[in-house]
Amino acid sequence: MLKGYKTEILPSEEQALKIRQTLGTCRYLYNLYLASNFEVYETLGKGFFVTAYTFDKYVNHVVKKELPWIDKCGAKARKQAMTNAERAFKNYMQGKTNRPKFKKKRQQKVKAYFPKNAKGDWTIWRHKIQVPTIGIVKLKEKGYLPTKAKIHSGTVSYKAGRYYVSVLVEVPDNISEKPQGEGIGIDLGIKELAVMSNGVIKPNINKTPQVKKLDKKLRREQRRLSRKYVDKKKRGEKIATYSANIEKQVVKIQRLYQTLTNIRVDYENKIISAIVKRKPSFIVLEDLNVRGMMKNRHLSRAIAVQRLSYFRTKLTIKAKQYGIEVRIADRFYPSSKKCSRCGRIKSDLKLKDRIYRCECGLEMDRDLNAAINLRNATKYETA
Ligand SMILES: [Zn+2]
Repeated sequence: MLKGYKTEILPSEEQALKIRQTLGTCRYLYNLYLASNFEVYETLGKGFFVTAYTFDKYVNHVVKKELPWIDKCGAKARKQAMTNAERAFKNYMQGKTNRPKFKKKRQQKVKAYFPKNAKGDWTIWRHKIQVPTIGIVKLKEKGYLPTKAKIHSGTVSYKAGRYYVSVLVEVPDNISEKPQGEGIGIDLGIKELAVMSNGVIKPNINKTPQVKKLDKKLRREQRRLSRKYVDKKKRGEKIATYSANIEKQVVKIQRLYQTLTNIRVDYENKIISAIVKRKPSFIVLEDLNVRGMMKNRHLSRAIAVQRLSYFRTKLTIKAKQYGIEVRIADRFYPSSKKCSRCGRIKSDLKLKDRIYRCECGLEMDRDLNAAINLRNATKYETA
């Protein structure tokens, strides 16, 4: 089975410069390919376009002579940038996508492709990795990438002042035997992230002081940025003109945002692997009505909901990798309103009722009651 990994690297000054040069060249060629083909399209009409293969030859024989810096970027990385542009252009021609946009420096969405071209390329150690043409680069997170794994190629990207590698690794299938553990019902929510039928509760990380503090800081910096724009306008300058001051603030915000995302993702990953390690024979989740929840306009809530569906998807993928059956309870299954002991339905249950109380004597946290009901669901679809 192939598994994708993305992790941050800590290149030296020299290596970072080389990465930025490569990314810059890839972006340049991507844009150049698109611009040329738009021109071809406008002059000759539909059906005419220059392939990446031909364009690569043109770059090697003509463009490179005029712009010698292009040669500093590996030939295969250049070719890949043009192949990507070709795919985007073809999809557009076939009506599958909108007109492809030029890559802007600010957006930093360019990845550079690094195929193996020397012995030892893409070797992984616990704390470092050998990136083709760049050399051995330190890894930020030690031991995350599987050592001894076979990698054929990978990409390097840059975002908010940080550098990342993405690699595809061949890993052995984990599904050797079917998991035999007790099934788990999981109630996902905004108050607590996850309440499980076995009594385990995973709180919403957005309520921790660390995240709250960072979130506050992020908002403050965002306000600062908009003030900078207002000042610029007051001075009579155009909004789009370059300003080092604003650029710096943008990077600051991107970094804070990335830190927050990293904290959230780490937390989710930890929970997911804890669930999977119990080897439950099945996991039951609710059919989340995300659209209904999104109606609430409160931004932080919207973000939380967005992460919920993300968490759900990730959990589903991971569970499947381990051979755990994932059940999605029927959307009309009253997991909250039903008593998990006697089966009575409490139709007047309100959102603010945190404790579920039943005539049969059951008194239980409402989310735990819901999680137990989910585990016991008999009407479900498998994901
Ligand atoms: Zn009851």
